Amino acid sequence: MRRGFCFRLAAAWLIAAIALLLGASPALANHEADNRLRPCVAPVSAGDDAASRFAARDFDCTSDQTSFGTGNFWIRMDVPHAPPAGESVALRFGSVWMDGMTVHVLYADGRSTARSYTSRDASRLIRVGAIIEVPIAARDVPVTSILVRMEGAANLRGLVLAPVLFTRDQSSSDAIGATALYAFFLGLCLALLVYNFVLWLTLRHRFQLYYCAMILATMGYAFTSSGGLAFLFEGIDNNDRLRLNHLLLGTIAVSALLFIRHFFEPRVMTPWLRRAIFWSCVFTVASSLAFALLAPWQIKLLDRAYFVSFLLTLGLCGPLLASARRNQSQFLSLFLLAWSAPVIVTFLRALHGFNLVPYNFWLDNGTMLAMGLESLLSSLVIAYRIKLLSDERDLERAEKTVAQRLASVDPLTGLLNRRAFLAQAIGKPGKRRLLLVDIDHFKRINDTVGHAGGDEVLKAFALALRKWAPDGCLVVRLGGEEFGLLLPEGKDGSSAALLLARIRSQAMPHELLVTASIGEAEGALTSQEAWIALYRSADVALYRAKSEGRDRACHIDELGLGAALTSHPCAA
Ligand code: GH3
Ligand code: MG
Ligand code: MG
Repeated sequence: MRRGFCFRLAAAWLIAAIALLLGASPALANHEADNRLRPCVAPVSAGDDAASRFAARDFDCTSDQTSFGTGNFWIRMDVPHAPPAGESVALRFGSVWMDGMTVHVLYADGRSTARSYTSRDASRLIRVGAIIEVPIAARDVPVTSILVRMEGAANLRGLVLAPVLFTRDQSSSDAIGATALYAFFLGLCLALLVYNFVLWLTLRHRFQLYYCAMILATMGYAFTSSGGLAFLFEGIDNNDRLRLNHLLLGTIAVSALLFIRHFFEPRVMTPWLRRAIFWSCVFTVASSLAFALLAPWQIKLLDRAYFVSFLLTLGLCGPLLASARRNQSQFLSLFLLAWSAPVIVTFLRALHGFNLVPYNFWLDNGTMLAMGLESLLSSLVIAYRIKLLSDERDLERAEKTVAQRLASVDPLTGLLNRRAFLAQAIGKPGKRRLLLVDIDHFKRINDTVGHAGGDEVLKAFALALRKWAPDGCLVVRLGGEEFGLLLPEGKDGSSAALLLARIRSQAMPHELLVTASIGEAEGALTSQEAWIALYRSADVALYRAKSEGRDRACHIDELGLGAALTSHPCAA
């Protein structure tokens, strides 16, 4: 992928992600505008009861709910647009940390009902998207007001978050949409998990494992947020579910950090960044564990520490991106593309953690959506990264092959060099025939046409040898103007006399007439010693050919009684 294109794609995606996130909340607000309830708060005082609180007018409807701190509260919500009488309705609000609550419902005829829930019961009220849904009994008169008495409320981000009154139809259509979203998300995660795990089995890149851990934790988070956990483990305390949520979100953050740490090229991870990522992981683990184990003790402080850890993690984005840019990372734009949405959502969530952004269903569930998008895009990024790695590996292999070839070939003539020749020649069974070929008076050739001209002659000479060499013959430049030819014994049509003729007829630079002398010997080549013996024999024969007048071939047998050493002349 071209770098410029990636940057443009990343920028376009970033803008789209921001627009999506900014656009989602007003759209939802419109959707729910009719059903929205306005929570008014009053602290519980001794001797309070529901009847007196329904009548009381001292509720605070304007202050931020978090300003009341922790404790026991009455939350009163008058119903402006009451659903028709006889219709089953439900009160829905974002899940919060509390010990228990009693929901009092006042009907138009002045009668009221009440139902109490502990935090254990509350987990059974959890609907897809970490929403608490309290059923309200249908009567033949409409609901006019709802009063919730909340005990032991941590009030971290509010007491009753974004309360709405839904009819059964609204609730089920909402649930179908949210369930479809969760099911899509979980299916996507499962597919990505299998895909990445299988890839890890073959490629063994560490970042793939961290990626799988991140997907697993995200799936776990979706499971606890969807009510699936309460469905499977009936009676789990809603506060324990929240503890688990903190742990899972912390795990997502840590595995994402470790994924990033190993995903980029090592040059991007400066020692400073590596240390910062390490300490960010430690802080995230410590703060999520502390919340999970110690809450509700110092719950506000623990919650703050937890969100500070997220801000710290996000704070690493700047230096990370700067380093990736400085070190010309190939993955920068793709990384931006995949991670912009989760980073924005995490940032908004962290701001929500500090009560700087109000509660919103999509803020709570956006983590999942953003992680879903991230997982999908990251998989493409991982596929791209793996493509680059395999390209690198192919290149390395090709370079190695070229290097091996260069190491075994004589650069001037392209024939085998002595080392590669010996590696191929020694150790094979059976008898061989070695022809040592030395150019006659090569020094004179050099003197006549210069060293460069001599090189040209050497190349043409090598060509003549190659042309003559039958199949299975090794041709080597042993050094200078001395060559060797190794054949299986008794190869027909490959006589030394023919080779001499071939050399004489080879077109040479500057129309030079070039001849050579050949020493020929036979023997086994099973060891280094055998090679030395065979070479020595052929060299004796070569010496004889030179001394007999050159441009001829002499032969020596295993006993050292060569044609040249007897009374016979060598073949010319
Ligand atoms: P003889 O017929 O006895 O073999 O005589 P000669 O001149 O061929 O043999 P000698 O061993 O005396 O000289 C070989 C020359 O080959 C000497 C050296 O400068 C030259 N030579 C060796 N390697 C190269 C090379 O790679 N290129 C060129 N141009 N000359 C080389
Ligand atoms: Mg020579
Ligand atoms: Mg020589």
